[in-house]
Parts: sequence; C-alpha cells; structure tokens
Amino acid sequence: MSATIFKDFQFEAAHRLPHVPRGYKCGRLHGHSFMVRLELTGEIDQQTGWIGDFSDISKAFKPL
Ligand SMILES: [Zn+2]
Repeated sequence: MSATIFKDFQFEAAHRLPHVPRGYKCGRLHGHSFMVRLELTGEIDQQTGWIGDFSDISKAFKPL
C-alpha cells in the first residue's frame, strides 16, 4: 500500500522588471509571497508504518 505525505514551505522574495514601461506594476522593487509543496509518495514500511520522515522533506528543501 502506498501513501503520500507533504510539507509546505513559504518564503518571500522581491523583484523588479527593469525594461518595462514606466508605471508598469512590476517596474518597481516589490515583494511576492510563495509557497512550495514537496510531496513524498511511496510504499508504507511494514515495520514503521511510515513512507518517510518529515525531517527528510525539510532536508531536501533546505538547499533550495
Ligand atoms: Zn511582481
């Protein structure tokens, strides 16, 4: 039997588009909010009852 677990990560980032007409909405430095969801799908381990550890999902996201 397989299952999926997931963990959401939120972060803020800023950007500016320098080659757009004056007054364009992204022409000035401003921020956006982002959410990334990492999912892990696999077979459930008979002994642990898990497919994986949430800390492994966090480790996978950390370099990103
Ligand atoms: Zn923008």
